[in-house]
Amino acid sequence: MPKHFSPTRDFHSGFNGVDALHILLIEDNAALAQGLKIALSKEGFIVNHVASGQHGLETVKTSPPDIVVLDLGLPDLDGLQVLQRLRKLRAHLPVLILTARNQLDDKVKGLESGADDYLPKPFEMAELVARLRVIERRLTGVTDAHITIHQVTLFPQYHLAKIGDENLELSRREFMLLKTLMENAGKVQTRNTLEARLYSWDEEVASNSLEVHIHNLRKKLGADFIKTVRGVGYMVPK
Ligand code: CA
Repeated sequence: MPKHFSPTRDFHSGFNGVDALHILLIEDNAALAQGLKIALSKEGFIVNHVASGQHGLETVKTSPPDIVVLDLGLPDLDGLQVLQRLRKLRAHLPVLILTARNQLDDKVKGLESGADDYLPKPFEMAELVARLRVIERRLTGVTDAHITIHQVTLFPQYHLAKIGDENLELSRREFMLLKTLMENAGKVQTRNTLEARLYSWDEEVASNSLEVHIHNLRKKLGADFIKTVRGVGYMVPK
């Protein structure tokens, strides 16, 4: 491995990009909430719904979501109070506010921080999804997310890997394997973990196929980039 490359690990992603975004929906209209839950789940979000401000605040305390979608017209607490208390609990939690158009006054705009956005009711589902995607991109830093270890850089969202300035030709499975190892650099990944990443549960795994992929990666990355931890699995040292 060339000595002039500094062994930095540069992982910009705010959270594990593999996981779906968790949305807490605070909305007392049961029909609307149910519709949103179904539509957003289809978009790959994980939606937890509560119907009151108090329940919403408790949920943020006990299991913080990635994004809150907050209806301002709630039965128990004023939506703006909920927003202020959310801010005290978690200053940077993104909150997307749903509000009837006539409630969209200066108070709402005044409270809007960098973390907040609002959407007047009624809204199109596509518009809500688009706003959530903007927040998601901000959270994941997806435009420049990359991991660099020694001379190898991975750009997960582009399925691109480079060694120095050269693009690496990797198969889909080689890429997933390398991504798992680089995201967990410095920690041993067991054979079971790596095989679970590579294959769906119903697919036959030839006993030597993980070794074959590791062998091919080593041919492309150099023999030392991936270490074998005998009897356990593999590791990319930091
Ligand atoms: Ca309402």
